[in-house]
Amino acid sequence: AQRRRQPEVNIGTAGHVDHGKTTLVQALTGVWTAKHSEELKRGMTIKLGYAEGEIWYCEGVEGPEAYQPFPELCPEGSVPKLLRKVSYVDAPGHEILMATMLSGAALMDGALLVIAANEKCPQPQTYEHLMALDIVGVHKLVIVQNKVDVVTPERARESYQEIKEFVKGTFAENAPIIPVSALHRVNVDVVLMAMEHLMPTPQRDPAKPPLMFIARSFDVNKPGTPVEELRGGVVGGSLIQGVLRVGDEIEIVPGVRVEERGRVRYEPLVTEVTSLRFGNLEVDEARPGGLVAVGTKLDPAVAKADNLVGNILGKPGHLPPVRDTIRLEYYMLERVVGARELVKVPPLRQREIVMLTVGTAITLGVVTSLGKDEIEVKLRRPVAAWEGARVAISRQVLGRWRLVGWGIVKG
Ligand code: GDP
Ligand code: 5GP
Repeated sequence: AQRRRQPEVNIGTAGHVDHGKTTLVQALTGVWTAKHSEELKRGMTIKLGYAEGEIWYCEGVEGPEAYQPFPELCPEGSVPKLLRKVSYVDAPGHEILMATMLSGAALMDGALLVIAANEKCPQPQTYEHLMALDIVGVHKLVIVQNKVDVVTPERARESYQEIKEFVKGTFAENAPIIPVSALHRVNVDVVLMAMEHLMPTPQRDPAKPPLMFIARSFDVNKPGTPVEELRGGVVGGSLIQGVLRVGDEIEIVPGVRVEERGRVRYEPLVTEVTSLRFGNLEVDEARPGGLVAVGTKLDPAVAKADNLVGNILGKPGHLPPVRDTIRLEYYMLERVVGARELVKVPPLRQREIVMLTVGTAITLGVVTSLGKDEIEVKLRRPVAAWEGARVAISRQVLGRWRLVGWGIVKG
């Protein structure tokens, strides 16, 4: 029964493509998450990689070896104790997927920044992801210096110095840097120990009204299912607060796009929770931690093909306001990843098209008013956001969307 419970904390992976994020998640969970590069090549829609793992403590064992991803790894005679169930969110390291990475970061309680020792640090997405974690507010960080099996001890030390220099003066300045071989599963126990000590499960208040960022949505019916057997739309995401129960009435905002006589508006959806699932585990109530699939009475067509991604689900009357125009107190990064090197970020311009990431929502907008500290952006698609919410600002640099700044939602 101990193992049949939902994950309680979401740990993200970040870092440049091919530095070993997926391999690390496999070492931590036994699961090989979908490869974004492969999905991209096949032109598939990009999903956040996701896998559930566990942290076990081998009673009576001293030091990092006491922390293991599987109870079978505890030595003979020591009793394994389950400390936590963890869900790993594998953010894509591919440069064109920055927006997916940013919306994934909205779900993370902490992150593992994977940096390969055999390449110079920082690589472009190593830099960009560290900025992104800072902007979204994921400040609990462990740095995994990966692939130490393929470098000399001299290069390992040099790589360590490069990483130290790279994080100097940032929120990650004091994050531990753990030499690892994800492929050969060396020091995975040290990573788990660091997670246990540095990424405690956040205090949650179950009395708060439930709120969930929607990161996936599905029509789960097989083609040809008879109408009377059709199941309602399913939305997947992570609860950021509160408890969601089967039978709860819920509202989803901004909701669905309706076009009437050439006018477009968004209509909130009100429905009921009919089922709750973590992977194959069916539950009666869900709390923060892990990706939960919420069955509803919505028309499955409304939820199909990730149509509801970026919406917020909550208790009717307790949802953030929907905004067509957003006012931000904003800050620009000094430098941005260019073709290869870092380049200076020019200031925002009036009428410029920007991409905003708010929670799991990604929307384009045009800058309609521009001050020294404040901008107003007219959004192509509305978002639901509270005053004070953090927003990532990206713009096109050499044909790619690049993170260039951030903002705080005003009024
Ligand atoms: P991702 O793009 O960051 O998810 O990187 P992957 O996990 O797909 O790893 C990219 C390549 O590096 C794969 O061929 C892995 O087998 C290899 N790799 C990952 N970790 C290690 C490691 O610790 N040592 C070695 N030698 N290769 C590794
Ligand atoms: P698939 O379409 O791949 O079968 O399912 C997509 C997602 O919806 C998976 O996360 C799966 O667990 C979830 N799911 C499928 N059927 C149901 C259901 O009846 N209730 C709930 N809550 N989730 C479901």
